[in-house]
Amino acid sequence: PSITRGVTVEIPKVSWEDIGGLHDLKKKLQQAVEWPLRHSASFSRLGVSPVRGILLHGPPGCSKTTLAKAAGHAAQASFFSLSGAELYSMYVGEGEALLRNTFRRARLASPSIIFFDEADVVAAKRGGSSSGSSKVGERLLSTLLTEMDGLEQAKGILVLAATNRPNAIDAALMRPGRFDLVLYVPPPDSESRYEILRVHTRDMKLDPDVDLSLIAEETELFTGAELEGLCREAGIVALREDISATVVCNRHFQKVRQSLKPALTMEEVV
Ligand code: ATP
Repeated sequence: PSITRGVTVEIPKVSWEDIGGLHDLKKKLQQAVEWPLRHSASFSRLGVSPVRGILLHGPPGCSKTTLAKAAGHAAQASFFSLSGAELYSMYVGEGEALLRNTFRRARLASPSIIFFDEADVVAAKRGGSSSGSSKVGERLLSTLLTEMDGLEQAKGILVLAATNRPNAIDAALMRPGRFDLVLYVPPPDSESRYEILRVHTRDMKLDPDVDLSLIAEETELFTGAELEGLCREAGIVALREDISATVVCNRHFQKVRQSLKPALTMEEVV
């Protein structure tokens, strides 16, 4: 990927198969992202206006970024990645310039996806005192609104944003023509955890005593990121035990499982 300060550009390599669970969500994203980006001419021919912006919200580590990248991969779109926190921390005017510049580059490179991580930092409610709203935030938000409105004429550009705090997002961004689609990315249930464990062990040599569906049941409240860590750690434990080990066994998974505590709590999930 090419990196200019504050923005990364690439065609992502992650595919839908790299994401365990979330089947309905993947389907919705496929329709909202792949179709308009790949078939923008058909949309114009029928006079159907595609979704311009999609907001993904949900707890950290549950694949918001990965979903956005998979959508970009499927649409073979240039993927411009911006961090709200990074934009916010720039010198006066620099963040706005970077935003405008990114939209301009995205138009030239279309089909494109502009992905905003930690969107709430830039798109915080105006006038709110506790939400991190400030002069810097307001100027970034107004630049973002102007750029998104300018997308009316542009074809093949989609803005995806991710946040853990959807309630902090300014209502102006939720108007039609801006973030038309809001999708909740939940923490994985046991079936999804099983699929995530499958994804992250597919290149590992597992002993037949490893029962991933049992591990899935024993990892309630674990996020995808934590399950990925669990698999990696189990491999490391096996190697630490015996550097010439040929398989990772159930006891290695159990050892790591017992040492880990999920960061999410029940209240955050329901
Ligand atoms: P944050 O809010 O912290 O940015 P996020 O929701 O964007 O988190 P990701 O960055 O997409 O989460 O996920 C972190 C890691 O967890 C990824 O590297 C990915 O491999 C793994 N992961 C999360 N969910 C899944 C899943 N459903 N299937 C496979 N891997 C997953």
